[in-house]
Amino acid sequence: MAKKTAKDAAPENSGGAEAIDVQGLHKAFGELEVLRGIDFSVARGEVVCVIGPSGSGKSTLLRCVNLLEEPSAGRVMVADTEVTDPDVDIDLVRRRIGMVFQSFNLFPHLTVLENLTIAQRRVLRRNRSEAERIARVNLERVGMSEKEASYPAQLSGGQQQRVAIARALSMDPELMLFDEPTSALDPELVGDVLAVMRSLADEGMTMLVVTHEMSFAREVADRVVFMDGGVIVEEGSPERVVGDPQHERTRTFLARVL
Ligand code: ADP
Ligand code: MG
Repeated sequence: MAKKTAKDAAPENSGGAEAIDVQGLHKAFGELEVLRGIDFSVARGEVVCVIGPSGSGKSTLLRCVNLLEEPSAGRVMVADTEVTDPDVDIDLVRRRIGMVFQSFNLFPHLTVLENLTIAQRRVLRRNRSEAERIARVNLERVGMSEKEASYPAQLSGGQQQRVAIARALSMDPELMLFDEPTSALDPELVGDVLAVMRSLADEGMTMLVVTHEMSFAREVADRVVFMDGGVIVEEGSPERVVGDPQHERTRTFLARVL
């Protein structure tokens, strides 16, 4: 399949580090232990889907990768940067990571094009014409070129989410985190967003995706991670984890979502 190209083509001098490497990650909110020792990694160009029941810690895991939550213990690496190093410049790390949430969080008072250029200009210091050029390339990628002058409220949820993906891509991220990007959408709008994510995967983007879309996990993920109660219960190929789960908890979960 074509989707392995970016990983295969990774240059020798890229260090060979994983895109994400998490070791012994714990996170507590007060007394509540939400992550109870997570070890896992994502290779460059790999697509990993995280599945599991509500409250199992999936979002917290994603948020620990870009330090939207501060881990209580453990180590998180993004390529060769230790995110959990107290001296790390977290803004620099976050700049390298695209994040797409369930709620699209577009600026309502800005047009689609302005939504895509504002962070490029303010954070990456690109000039207007360069930022607009890059924005248009990415709107094209998500099939939203026609709508560059529209405001978010004039778009469907699925269109807004595709704009949010294009906005993240405009920052040239080295990896993308998706937290249930289709969960807030009407069922008929889910397919367009998943198609955009699938094409990103085919282009070799490194992706960590929390999703309940089992057909996406089956068809697009290189690996599926099943979480429950703040631990990884099992992980492996989609054929294995979704098709032939080894643990009762995984089977119970899948019986509910499939
Ligand atoms: P998931 O994404 O798998 O549904 P989350 O990571 O959102 O799970 O949440 C796991 C647990 O952590 C839940 O019990 C949730 O209520 C709790 N939690 C998440 N964020 C916070 C927070 N900021 N403060 C307190 N509890 C939180
Ligand atoms: Mg969540």
